[in-house]
Amino acid sequence: MKIGSHISSAGGFCAMYHKARSIGCDTMQFFVRNPRGGKAKAIDENDLTEFHRLLTEGNCSPVVVHAPYTMNICSPKTDVRQFGLEMMREDLERMEYFPGNYYNFHPGSAVGQPQELAVRLIADGLNTILETDFHSLILLETMAGKGSEVGATFDQLAQIIDLLERPEKVGICLDTCHIWDGGYNIAEDLDGVLCAFDAVLGLGKLKAIHLNDSLNPCGSKKDRHALIGKGEIGFDALCACLTNPMLSELPFLLETPTDDAGHGKEIQSLRAAVYAEKNENFQ
Ligand code: FE
Ligand code: FE
Ligand code: ZN
Repeated sequence: MKIGSHISSAGGFCAMYHKARSIGCDTMQFFVRNPRGGKAKAIDENDLTEFHRLLTEGNCSPVVVHAPYTMNICSPKTDVRQFGLEMMREDLERMEYFPGNYYNFHPGSAVGQPQELAVRLIADGLNTILETDFHSLILLETMAGKGSEVGATFDQLAQIIDLLERPEKVGICLDTCHIWDGGYNIAEDLDGVLCAFDAVLGLGKLKAIHLNDSLNPCGSKKDRHALIGKGEIGFDALCACLTNPMLSELPFLLETPTDDAGHGKEIQSLRAAVYAEKNENFQ
């Protein structure tokens, strides 16, 4: 079981790695540019090379780079789509310094267009990007279905993947807050939800979990994260994700509304609960 959190990105890559380890992460998520978009920082080759060495020797991979929130590769505006794809390409180029990891992005928002068109635009964009042979796996994040968001159902994510020329280069990151808000009741029936995922997408496509509680009830489509155990999903249901045999090999990343130290405490309490449960089953 690998647990980590989204690490605040002050300093370079190695600084982020050390911060992650200091709060008990054995995987991590981070941005490689301002989360609201804009220019990427200049490449520091030494820092990136050392970062790759640390990840490998520290058995910390796979790690997840999160694309900027503002990226929308299915926008009705051509320049917004183009800008999104440029950022994605640049981020993936940077990730070539630490190959074998994941690039997670929000599929996008249709903003007035039919959802089917948005699905097509996302697939077209990914097909263009994947003409280059990047050594990272791109992940589509499951969304809450807020506004005109694309990717709030397993079916719609499967429609995107079905249109890809290289579907093996794309996987799924499941966000527990988002799918809960999207109407998948993981608190009452986690196995049922995972079986539905398997039927539509195949569990082999599932590569990472965003482990978040939700401020709102199942189906609310709000996307407001809560601290672990302080929301509507609850501590036990989130712990059950960590120990579910269908998920236990995946990296779990916390994106709860707290700082690095707060994430450290949450990681600690989750690990303690999981070990206590394992011991109980053993005896
Ligand atoms: Fe996200
Ligand atoms: Fe997320
Ligand atoms: Zn969210």
